[in-house]
Amino acid sequence: MPVINRIAEFHADMTAWRHDLHQHPELALKETRTSGVVQQLLHGFGVDEVHAGLAGTGVVGVIRGAHPGSAAIGLRADMDALPIHEETGTAWASQTPGVMHACGHDGHTSMLLGAAKYLAETRNFAGTVYVIFQPADENFGGGRMMVDEGLFEQFPMQQVYGMHNWPSVPAGTFKWRDGPIMAAVANIDITVTGRGAHGAQPHMGVDPIVVSAAIVQALQSIVSRNVEPARAGVVTIGSIQGGHIFNVIPETVRMLGTARWFDPEVGDLLEAGVIRVATHVAQGFGATADVRFSREYPATVNDPAAMALARHAAESVSGPARVEHMALPTMGGEDFSFMLNAKQGAYIMLGAGRGPDDAMVHHPKYDFNDDILPVGASYWATLAEQLLPRG
Ligand SMILES: [Zn+2]
Ligand SMILES: [Zn+2]
Repeated sequence: MPVINRIAEFHADMTAWRHDLHQHPELALKETRTSGVVQQLLHGFGVDEVHAGLAGTGVVGVIRGAHPGSAAIGLRADMDALPIHEETGTAWASQTPGVMHACGHDGHTSMLLGAAKYLAETRNFAGTVYVIFQPADENFGGGRMMVDEGLFEQFPMQQVYGMHNWPSVPAGTFKWRDGPIMAAVANIDITVTGRGAHGAQPHMGVDPIVVSAAIVQALQSIVSRNVEPARAGVVTIGSIQGGHIFNVIPETVRMLGTARWFDPEVGDLLEAGVIRVATHVAQGFGATADVRFSREYPATVNDPAAMALARHAAESVSGPARVEHMALPTMGGEDFSFMLNAKQGAYIMLGAGRGPDDAMVHHPKYDFNDDILPVGASYWATLAEQLLPRG
């Protein structure tokens, strides 16, 4: 069974929803218009219940099958955009300067809306499907907020599934992986305090710029010398801010960075290492370092049994040859991890690639590939029908 015919029939509707969402991107926890559009469409499809308010702008639609049953599953899409200024030049480009759907969450939302429309119309399953529209994937952990605010108590389900488009994989090809598929994430925030002085009198001060340079170099040794080589870890300093003029030694320098890992022991090691190295290198220079290592998202870990069911649904839509094993996980972060930590389930990648010149997600020239809208919607609908079979 390839793309579901009935879903293919409203490809143009899904594209129109996607372009509308793309023109009106909203940042994490500010998805007010998006949430309203989703609620309005779900009501229009005749979904049994539409609940708004979890994590502020979150929406959950309840669709009951034509056949009774206590089985229930959740299908989750994310809704937020990024603080990036769009450079696609498309007719449906962002109308909000500096904000852009650069991760394809406009497409994710539209695919799940397409599945909801089909499932509410056909109801060819036994039990309940919850369609979960989650805010704040890119920042603030909307997934955690929905779980903490009672998603799984209010909407009891046995399993929950997620999906992300992936431009470097050919359009319509799925990628699956047992165990870790995306990394755990921590933010690093280091403030180095020395003593300011005239740039020509360095002996009168403690130069936090020199100290920071030494810290950045020394931090590289944590992954290369402390993490077991066969395991994965990342420590990146992405921002250094300090000083403002040629000839003044500033008082402080602030550095921001990210750490990534899969194994919890590696996360503990990275946290201890970043704090130890930054603090002691600063002390060695007679400066101080205030180090914060804030854990944001845990690793996204697929349950093999749920992944097998997801794979089967993907194979039903795209054919077994276009459902490929993903050899290596990505070091990107994903807050669907909070849902997978609370509930059995799996996260799958859906290829969105058009060709070698495609922009990757989070790039100002990225645009979701509308060709895969019916593929993703068919995957969701097929997964629901296969997991909740009629008696
Ligand atoms: Zn993203
Ligand atoms: Zn994303």
